[in-house]
Amino acid sequence: MHELSIANSIAEIVGEQARLLRGGRITGVTLRIGRLSCVHEDALRYSFDLVTEGTPLAGASLAVIEVPIRIWCPACEAEVELPGIQRFACPACGHLSGDILAGRELDIESIQIAADPTAAEQTAADTHEPTQPEPL
Ligand SMILES: [Zn+2]
Repeated sequence: MHELSIANSIAEIVGEQARLLRGGRITGVTLRIGRLSCVHEDALRYSFDLVTEGTPLAGASLAVIEVPIRIWCPACEAEVELPGIQRFACPACGHLSGDILAGRELDIESIQIAADPTAAEQTAADTHEPTQPEPL
């Protein structure tokens, strides 16, 4: 089940972003997933809930934007959208084409964060380090 490793990567990247922002709670993550990436959305949601359990990401919602497959049709000289993955042929003229322009995406589109000023202050104070070494 490769969705689990994908969910892990997403949680890592998003968690890192949250740390860089020094606080604030992640409330949601939006992904762009191409139809050719062979990611099962349900399995990914399940995996995401599993890997974020007990972490600051727990309870964050996962939104998925499905990216359709688009190929370049040399006959029409146009970018065309495929209705499915069964046949890589232009739906308008039937010309076969393997020139894939879109559909393999697996990207984090955006991260929703609820600002929490208290958490931000605490984080800033906790990570404060003296710039000069302490005198002996
Ligand atoms: Zn065509």
